[in-house]
Amino acid sequence: MTVTELVSYEDALASYDPVMGLEVHVELGTKTKMFCGCSTELGADPNTQTCPVCLGMPGALPVVNAIGVESAIKIGLALNCEIAEWCRFARKNYFYPDMPKNFQTSQYDEPIAFNGYLDVQLEDGEVFRVQIERAHMEEDTGKSTHVGGATGRIHGAQHSLLDYNRAGIPLIEIVTKPIEGAGERAPEVAKAYVAELRELIKALGVSEARMEMGQMRCDVNLSLRPHGREKFGTRSETKNVNSLRSVERAVRFEVQRHASVLSAGGTIVQETRHFHEEDGSTTSGRIKEEAEDYRYFPEPDLVPVAPSREWVEELRGTLPELPRVRRNRLREEWGVTEHDMQSILNAGAVDLITATVEAGADSAAARKWWMGELARSANESGTDLAALPITPAQVARVAALVAEGSLNDKLARQVIEGVLAGEGGPDEVVDKRGLKVVSDDSALGAAVDEAIAANAGIADKIRAGKVAAAGALVGAVMKATRGQADAARVRELILERLGVEG
Ligand code: ADP
Ligand code: MG
Ligand code: ZN
Repeated sequence: MTVTELVSYEDALASYDPVMGLEVHVELGTKTKMFCGCSTELGADPNTQTCPVCLGMPGALPVVNAIGVESAIKIGLALNCEIAEWCRFARKNYFYPDMPKNFQTSQYDEPIAFNGYLDVQLEDGEVFRVQIERAHMEEDTGKSTHVGGATGRIHGAQHSLLDYNRAGIPLIEIVTKPIEGAGERAPEVAKAYVAELRELIKALGVSEARMEMGQMRCDVNLSLRPHGREKFGTRSETKNVNSLRSVERAVRFEVQRHASVLSAGGTIVQETRHFHEEDGSTTSGRIKEEAEDYRYFPEPDLVPVAPSREWVEELRGTLPELPRVRRNRLREEWGVTEHDMQSILNAGAVDLITATVEAGADSAAARKWWMGELARSANESGTDLAALPITPAQVARVAALVAEGSLNDKLARQVIEGVLAGEGGPDEVVDKRGLKVVSDDSALGAAVDEAIAANAGIADKIRAGKVAAAGALVGAVMKATRGQADAARVRELILERLGVEG
């Protein structure tokens, strides 16, 4: 059933409760592939990082990547999962040209990690617990490029190119249990979950989890059920939703679409769907396969994975502080609001500010520079804060120069501009550009006298007791010294010259 008019989100929620299931694939940052020694480095020429194993040649034998297993266990532990004492890989059989073996080596009913949860914090500070069904190990497919068509899709293409460099790169798939009870906040919960998972994966150091590079991809399952009904409705599965914003939009759209179909008396078909970035809509993909279509069976060429309890406990001991816990700790240490912390997080500035504070800056100054001048600069050049050519130590040095009074804010901005332009570190830029607050009286005196002479009217008012008018003269001196004067000292000198008390 096609829907032409969508029910509004509010109306949908008035009749139905959403139930979600999120499947997230994370590409691990291992040096080599999951079952062979081929490099995983990006950017190589097509098909140069392949071997008989990842090309599925007859007789080639796979070997499990130990770091892949270790990473899977770390992710499982961080998600409060149980870790299997013994588990196996399974073949998931299907034919697709980007999968040279004609099966994907995955895990089926014996995942390495299962039964966990992740607490995610919503924007108002409320914590929502998402139950985790399992996290299992598998491998990525190759990449197809369809040439000759207008859309880049296979339809209308004249031929297709295949690059197997990605085939066999380790993936961890993390699957939630059905997420119930989020109500109208379902889109926010979905987004917060994926965001939290991404932070967690990064904190574990097992992947950079960059969604824009496909290192983390999300499938969004959604169904609706009428209020008060226990049985789940039929779900749709929107594939490869690859940004946080898209996850939120996909959930919202599917809620509205399901409600539109259901309230018109239609039925939802279980199918996969494609998400469209342009308008946030989804369109029908293929009718969903059942597990039996994949003819899963245990992988006979790989030994079972049986992590010892000692190893698991050793890995548990290496887990870092959870991102949510760390964020709350930093929020208190820095004395900022939940909302400010959210902005800092969204800007990717948490680690940068932390490092700047560790390099000696006070947290207010570190935040001010990263979230102000530097955020603006990153924005203008369309890069991440972390990619700017300035280090936290250099930002801390600028803050120190301001704190000791040898730079004011205006000069500090010029120093930062110089560092970003590649003119050297802060001290070098200060020297080269001759940026120093001038506070010595002999140098300032002449400028003060000139400003008084040029603004006789204002000077009279000040003499008559209107001390507040001194600001205008300070401004004139700052202008004349191109911002390099020590404003506080200038003010003192003006009042001194005019014979009034400050
Ligand atoms: P598949 O392999 O078909 O994608 P999975 O079990 O791997 O199935 O993933 C299905 C996801 O959808 C899981 O997160 C699961 O909790 C969730 N889910 C299952 N049934 C429903 C439903 N009726 N509505 C919403 N989500 C569901
Ligand atoms: Mg799925
Ligand atoms: Zn290989």
